Amino acid sequence: MKMFHLLKFGLLLNLITGCAYFTRDQEPANFKIIDAHIHTHFSGDRDEDSGVLDSEASLLDEMKANNVVGAVAHTNRTQSDYKDLKKHNIIHCYGSGAKPDIRKLDIDLKNNKYGCIKIYLGYVRQYPNDPHYLPLYKLAEKYNVPVVFHTGDTYAKDALLKYAEPLSIDEVAVTYPNINFVIAHLGNPWVETAAEVVYKNSNVYADISAFLIGDLSKRSPADIEEYVVKPIRWTFHFCENPKKLMFGTDWSLTHMKPYIEAVKKAIPREHWNDVFYNNAKMVFKFPDGT
Ligand SMILES: [Zn+2]
Repeated sequence: MKMFHLLKFGLLLNLITGCAYFTRDQEPANFKIIDAHIHTHFSGDRDEDSGVLDSEASLLDEMKANNVVGAVAHTNRTQSDYKDLKKHNIIHCYGSGAKPDIRKLDIDLKNNKYGCIKIYLGYVRQYPNDPHYLPLYKLAEKYNVPVVFHTGDTYAKDALLKYAEPLSIDEVAVTYPNINFVIAHLGNPWVETAAEVVYKNSNVYADISAFLIGDLSKRSPADIEEYVVKPIRWTFHFCENPKKLMFGTDWSLTHMKPYIEAVKKAIPREHWNDVFYNNAKMVFKFPDGT
């Protein structure tokens, strides 16, 4: 109701002044974005589907062009794609394999090399409560860093989906109430399950990346609405808490700009600052001034 009155007020001002003083899609003042899910492989090649040039310069260009002032990069399971990009406000998550090197990670977290831990579930074929991951949770508590899970569809066909289904995150969320957990991709297509795990647990968040990947300019507006806007809009309202969802793209699998525009359609304008910036800043502890 409040929004309706604001819109009417904006339209009235438009009529009086003849300029777009306030429209539905206008960004809030000082609108900034944190992309909570990117990768820094930097292969130097263009992604076959998205057409994105996978290079550091290309990433920084896209961030600058879209006022993306920070990002969370997920390393692969051997961390071979790690690069220190902290000066660009890019935080890296330690990508865990099946048997993480706990001693090394302890040192790396102490030295702020990583600001989060990423667990690949379906790719590694281990559930969140797998004994190999329990030392990771101890480190996450010790260094107060969030733990991100890949959930939902898997890129690799030899991965096993049963491990990538988000319901199993509920158990570790309850067991470790002091750790913030992030459900990457909002469990897509198990969006309702992921939304319930987010809604029920105060320490569980979700990034809303990669609902569609590739060149989104080649997708119809109806596809964008059906596969990106609708599920994210439904989840946002279901969770009843504007602090729970975080914008993300999965760059370089898609360009940032069209994904930003799609998510704007899904989230009420008065909550853009939370979903596009504040929530990721809080969960991943970006420094003040980001
Ligand atoms: Zn990813």
